[in-house]
Amino acid sequence: MIELHKRAVMYLPGVGPRKAEILQKEAGIASFEDLLYYFPYKYIDRSRFYTISSIHGDMAYIQLKGQILSFDTLGEGRARRIVARFSDGTGVIDLVWFKGLAYVKEKYQTGREYIVFGKPAEFGQSYSIAHPEIDPLAQAGQVASGLTPFYNTTEKMKKAFLHSRAIQNLQYTLLGLLNWETPETLPPDIIERIRMIPLAEAMRNIHFPESAEKLKAARLRLKFDELFFIQLNILRTAAHRKTKLKGLVCPTVGRRFNTFYKDYLPFDLTAAQKRVVREIRADMGSGRQMNRLLQGDVGSGKTLVALLSMLLAIDNNYQACMMAPTEILANQHYATVMHFLGDMDVRIVLLTGSVRKKERNRILPAIAAGEVDIIIGTHALIEDAVAFASLGLAVIDEQHRFGVEQRSRLWQKNEHVPHVLVMTATPIPRTLAMTLYGDLDVSVIDQLPPGRKPILTLHRYDNRKAELYDFLRKELSRGRQAYVVYPMIEESEKLDYKNLEEGFDVFRDVFPEYKVGMVHGRMKAAEKEAVMQQFISGEAQILLATTVIEVGVNVPNASVMVIESAERFGLSQLHQLRGRVGRGSEQSYCVLVSSYKLSNETRKRLEIMVQTNNGFEIAEADLRLRGQGDLEGTRQSGQGIDLKIANLGSDGQILQYARDIAGEILAADPDLSLPERQLLADRLKALFSGKQNWRLIS
Ligand code: ADP
Ligand code: MG
Repeated sequence: MIELHKRAVMYLPGVGPRKAEILQKEAGIASFEDLLYYFPYKYIDRSRFYTISSIHGDMAYIQLKGQILSFDTLGEGRARRIVARFSDGTGVIDLVWFKGLAYVKEKYQTGREYIVFGKPAEFGQSYSIAHPEIDPLAQAGQVASGLTPFYNTTEKMKKAFLHSRAIQNLQYTLLGLLNWETPETLPPDIIERIRMIPLAEAMRNIHFPESAEKLKAARLRLKFDELFFIQLNILRTAAHRKTKLKGLVCPTVGRRFNTFYKDYLPFDLTAAQKRVVREIRADMGSGRQMNRLLQGDVGSGKTLVALLSMLLAIDNNYQACMMAPTEILANQHYATVMHFLGDMDVRIVLLTGSVRKKERNRILPAIAAGEVDIIIGTHALIEDAVAFASLGLAVIDEQHRFGVEQRSRLWQKNEHVPHVLVMTATPIPRTLAMTLYGDLDVSVIDQLPPGRKPILTLHRYDNRKAELYDFLRKELSRGRQAYVVYPMIEESEKLDYKNLEEGFDVFRDVFPEYKVGMVHGRMKAAEKEAVMQQFISGEAQILLATTVIEVGVNVPNASVMVIESAERFGLSQLHQLRGRVGRGSEQSYCVLVSSYKLSNETRKRLEIMVQTNNGFEIAEADLRLRGQGDLEGTRQSGQGIDLKIANLGSDGQILQYARDIAGEILAADPDLSLPERQLLADRLKALFSGKQNWRLIS
């Protein structure tokens, strides 16, 4: 049985080498089992017929019953098409074909009763359906029975006749070949415990639902399965690490920590900062290796927490390092830390790509000899030439910009695995965090330092620029500074640069009395740096930029953030950008400038931004609106949680349940060594071995 599942999809009747290649390339379907796990993305109730007279604006798929009145061939070249007039007695609609014209008139006749299925599009006063599915009414029994599954297909798949209907047929063939059975993945006691249907029944109903209820039960079981094994894997790995990996013990809260805390810290820690520092202290003193994710909204004071953690490490005779994703940020961290520590006896170095060779040659041996306590830098930190004498703690700021691989290199070069503190200002929805970082302990700074005025967010249309300029002028005349951010994406790079540069001209024209700077990704690092410095020092008052300024930059005097074409940014990106202001005690503003024509989803995004400053709420909304596939966290982390059926935006409860059950099982049998757990161990191996297990090292 298992063997059959592993068979290459090429050997399924109706597939063959060519289609197999396309299935593999386009949909990642290589084996019978892959095909089985290629689930429909939606179902349409084909038991219902609509009338043509009731068709309106934005309908999804509909089913009609009627006759073709006439055929016409229209247009030339690529616009050549066949248009059939179709009527059900209540009205007339056009059926349109652009492809396969030769067959259309052969296949369908006027005056015969057909069932037509497709998505209506509006053209002026009338409607049309392009490339409809058509079946003779005589076959209604077969076609129009209840829930019809729809499978995702790409253009290339469709060209090879692997459209949704064809996939459905393949599933039918496959399930028949398998006697409609699928080997169970969960032991009987677990199935009983969770009260879900057997996998075989779920698999049958996900592809060929007997009823809406059965489909629901099938989806639940398959979602559970998917999330359960991810959680089982994460929790088992985390448990292994906790028991097997020795941590460097930092038991002492020492002189430098205490001196800094008592005499140098210019303000009180917030309650949230205190709690998080306590959590980190407990970890680092425990003898186990710390792997902690520190989440805190922009401006919540993570840097200070990092600094205190680093002092803890160096008081215990270890070195500490802090990595930032860009040079600008590394420089800023360095300046911040130097400023905080003042004349304390802590030896700090900055190590970035632009540190001169001579300087490097001095710094590197000092790091290796243990003559340096704190190293702050960029990726240069993990270059092979850098050897630490005794790295005890690595702080990674803004982890989204650091690939997992980059992180792992840091630990590989050390005999002992240092404690790791990953800081992120991009709030991660709980479900995503549980899945991506489910093995990391999480600390949250859920409080901003006192005295901050919440940023006021406004949404303005771009046909009213004069008002925007007036508003800006008022703020600038008070001595404030402003960012103006432009979108920049690869697909429209040329046009985006043009817009940015035109904007630069406009702003210089409109504000001749102020200095306007511009930074973007095409500039050399040094150029960029120089312009940024002008803005940081206050020499320039307006900074036009692409999203290069998204992360971490701290200019407290900048109190206005204008985001041009705001409709083109994602929610979390907008939130990150907004976080660049609101850092001083002045009232800050974020102005979202968009065109007047907005889709519903975009309008919602901008509304959410106007309504809330809470990064977690925004992250949750982002997940709901966009789905997990698009989230930065999943794509950039390289850990690719590729979920086939579960949705982290809406299946939070199932996820929590799956995690609880996985936890229960591991509590009773941590190594899954009991005979009745063999099935689970095997499944884990099948699912996760072969992939590098990054969790051990992140
Ligand atoms: P994050 O990195 O979390 O975005 P930062 O560490 O850059 O935030 O802190 C933002 C600003 O708040 C900095 O200027 C920092 O000095 C200040 N700050 C941090 N903690 C406190 C506090 N407890 N009270 C007052 N100001 C604070
Ligand atoms: Mg920061």
